[in-house]
Amino acid sequence: MAKTAVVKAKYIIAGEGNVLVDHSLLIEDRKIAAIEPSGKLKADKVYNLGRAVLMPGLINCHTHLELTDLGKPVTRRQDLTMWLDEVRELRDATDNKDLIKSSQKGVEAAIEYGTTTIVDHANSANSYIPLKESGLRVFLLFEMVGFPEHLYESKAKLLDERIAMVEEGDFLKWGVAPHSAYGVSERLLKKCSAIAQESDCIISVHASEHEGEVELFETGGGPFIDFLTRLGSDFSKWKAPGVTPVEYLHKLGLVTGRTLMVHCNYLHGSDFKIIKNAGAAAVYCPRSHFYFYHRYHPFKKLLAEGVRVVFGTDSMVSNWSLDMLEELKFVYHSYEGLAPIQLVRMATADAASALGLDDKVGTLAPGMEADICAVHIPKSFTDPLKGLLDQRSRNIFTMTAGNLLYQE
Ligand SMILES: [Zn+2]
Repeated sequence: MAKTAVVKAKYIIAGEGNVLVDHSLLIEDRKIAAIEPSGKLKADKVYNLGRAVLMPGLINCHTHLELTDLGKPVTRRQDLTMWLDEVRELRDATDNKDLIKSSQKGVEAAIEYGTTTIVDHANSANSYIPLKESGLRVFLLFEMVGFPEHLYESKAKLLDERIAMVEEGDFLKWGVAPHSAYGVSERLLKKCSAIAQESDCIISVHASEHEGEVELFETGGGPFIDFLTRLGSDFSKWKAPGVTPVEYLHKLGLVTGRTLMVHCNYLHGSDFKIIKNAGAAAVYCPRSHFYFYHRYHPFKKLLAEGVRVVFGTDSMVSNWSLDMLEELKFVYHSYEGLAPIQLVRMATADAASALGLDDKVGTLAPGMEADICAVHIPKSFTDPLKGLLDQRSRNIFTMTAGNLLYQE
């Protein structure tokens, strides 16, 4: 990279969300040094992005990169347990070399779509190298699956090995991702909780994604019994906790200010307060939610309760692309009463804060690291924020810490 760079665009979303017209960013030593009217700043390298909205890089708070390309499509259906069976079979039939390639494709797509920070639920170690070499800011969260108690020793060992394998750096942090309340034994959930407490890492867990999951925990019945029995669980001695999955995870110390509660599609009663009081973030995956034909998502209620709501794409087996901008467009055009800037902030500043990165990224201001993207908007728009969420707008520029990763 040139020592200093100027990035010039018709519009810049600066600070808390002010839209500046005909301004430029000056980047020095990976950081934003100044934001001034275009023409005032000089640098070794100039990027002139034309009719684009320059904004903080998008933060994808939930995906599974190794599932980007499993060779054939997974059937779209409403039944989560049948879908999980199909995904598991397809993934198990794919060798590690292809899963690395699949992860690499996901990384490239994310960059092309303007993502600068990504949170990956890594079921295997296959996404590690593609992510490490990507130039993205990465949270590599080791996904644990294993509800049957007898799997505890082998799964706990695997988790310890994965953590030992990772070389953390300024750009890559590891964390724990117990798959879900129903996907992991109580003992393994407690281990994840203890690790997170000791290391202060990010925790991510699929929470209340499906009605059947809530039914299982509240009553001990429902469709998840058959599904988990097929996977080797024995329910003859299991006693339903009689609480919601969120209450159960909270009791085990997994709902904290460092937790990403993924999905939160079916929240009941005290779930909202628990998430709010813990300072956890709710990760809404809009198009994945739609993919499974869920009708309602309580994100507005979560926002009204004061919960930080952020966005994720989930993976390519329950979405059409890893494009975060498409998630914002989808929400904007599906729900009334949302200001475009609010959606932008949720995908940038709020997500950075959920990940503990808000002193570095998520906002364009002097002193912040230069993690940026730029969205080209159609000519017909005079309101750049509405243009940003028009179906025709697309990312044309991705940069992390002043390092150019993509330019169209
Ligand atoms: Zn997921």
